[in-house]
Amino acid sequence: MSADNMQIPYKIYLEEKEMPRQWYNVRADMKNKPAPLLNPATLQPMTAQELGNVFCDELVKQELDDSNAYIDIPAEILDFYKMYRPSPLVRAYCLEKKLQTPAKIYYKFEGNNTSGSHKLNSAIAQAYYAKKQGLKGVTTETGAGQWGTALSMACSYFELDCKVFMVKVSYEQKPFRREVMRTYGASVTPSPSETTQVGRKILAEHPGTTGSLGCAISEAVEAATCQEGYRYVLGSVLNQVLLHQSVIGLETKAALDKYGIVPDIIIGCAGGGSNLGGLISPFMGEKLRGERDYRIIAVEPASCPSFTRGRYAYDFCDTGRVCPLSKMYTLGSGFIPSANHAGGLRYHGMSSTLSQLYDEGLMEARSVEQTAVFRAAEEFARIEGILPAPESAHAICAAIDEAMKCKETGEEKTIVFGLTGTGYFDMVAYEKYNNGEMTDYIPTDAELEAGLAGLPVIEN
Ligand SMILES: *Cc1c(COP(=O)(O)O)cnc(C)c1O
Repeated sequence: MSADNMQIPYKIYLEEKEMPRQWYNVRADMKNKPAPLLNPATLQPMTAQELGNVFCDELVKQELDDSNAYIDIPAEILDFYKMYRPSPLVRAYCLEKKLQTPAKIYYKFEGNNTSGSHKLNSAIAQAYYAKKQGLKGVTTETGAGQWGTALSMACSYFELDCKVFMVKVSYEQKPFRREVMRTYGASVTPSPSETTQVGRKILAEHPGTTGSLGCAISEAVEAATCQEGYRYVLGSVLNQVLLHQSVIGLETKAALDKYGIVPDIIIGCAGGGSNLGGLISPFMGEKLRGERDYRIIAVEPASCPSFTRGRYAYDFCDTGRVCPLSKMYTLGSGFIPSANHAGGLRYHGMSSTLSQLYDEGLMEARSVEQTAVFRAAEEFARIEGILPAPESAHAICAAIDEAMKCKETGEEKTIVFGLTGTGYFDMVAYEKYNNGEMTDYIPTDAELEAGLAGLPVIEN
């Protein structure tokens, strides 16, 4: 269903004054709330005080808030948003023509900022609340570097110290992201490092290790909790991050409403679930309140299939098992995707909010293999002009599949997907694809069982 095609421009922009002034908290409209984070020592729900030792106070409030549907976006954050938002909602006319599909395809493009992804939407909010609390700085981990880049931009804006623990192998192999972070004033430490107790312990046990995300998280948490005036921040998975990312969905909905367009299918890639959670939130809200129905599809890599082959259970959020337990679709905190996996979205778990919605059948999930993902990325780059991040290309792949189904059936469905970022720093993965060296690997049931066998045993 949509208005007359001819009226719809290639890019639907909102005016500054039409930007959302509040984030939308989908948990407020959920009948069954996401399960609470548990203290790994006591197995009791984490209290605000316990969370406050690690996270900023205002962010703890947002994390635990299951009842307020709308939360004001502070003016300082709105001012920063105005530098790179509203982001365009693009009608993929050229792609539709190329595919010869009757489907109408739209994408919300979040790559129009220096960090190159949607992660800046939450980074700026988290940095703001840290500054407001009078903190000196924040610590975090980064793998490929998108989150570290976004956070260093946000911290430099608010003049906060930013300490990034970057997985050593990425630190050495991805010098460009590292230097972007340093340009924005962040200190970037290869992890594991000698600067923390846990880092020294890991180095002693595994000399020469190239590190992992789980280990970098453990170091970042220690660096925050052992230094006066520091807190730890995280770029995905948490409820607060989904809340900040709701700006994506609210803008999308406002842009569609301007032209009377009602999507049939909404698609997003899912790593920890923050961009997808943000994109779908206002639509999911309508669905939860019984006002409208949409098909919502999460797309994940076949090599890291948390939703499609994982288990809905309490698990550790990090490999080091120092963080709270979260009830989520998980492959086990020890799960590491196979070495040939190049496309990101490698987190073992998933947002607890999305996990609950998926468990209730309110959204679908599917997995795609990486050669298909890069084929879709290439097709999209050549016709729509934007070189997508491999993560975003998971959503492109599913959107093209749905558009091709419409071609078979002749249905004029309206498809909206999230184009989370650009892929300029992912050219090693593209090189592999271009050289015909990219392979697919789907973990066997036995391999997944081994990861799931390590789940903590919890009565609930
Ligand atoms: C981090 C990232 C993702 C995945 O994270 P989510 O929390 O699942 O959104 C997707 N796309 C890009 C470009 C990213 O940088």
